[in-house]
Amino acid sequence: MNPMTAPKVCVECKSEMEEGFTVDFSHANSLQTRWHRGKPAKGWVVEAKVKTEEMLRITTYRCTGCGLLRSYATNE
Ligand SMILES: [Zn+2]
Repeated sequence: MNPMTAPKVCVECKSEMEEGFTVDFSHANSLQTRWHRGKPAKGWVVEAKVKTEEMLRITTYRCTGCGLLRSYATNE
């Protein structure tokens, strides 16, 4: 994440934003999408057989105060 664009404080309540990512349970669609703190470990996610060149990883920041999520899909 570009440090220029990474949010440091929440736009709503000015609390600290922490980096994480959302978890996609592709074989359990009835489950609510989860947010996970930190970066995903290598090999932790099994990639589906899709055109990965058309996909972007999404980094989602979570406000530690009000829980606001802010997502970025960057080319990194
Ligand atoms: Zn907030």
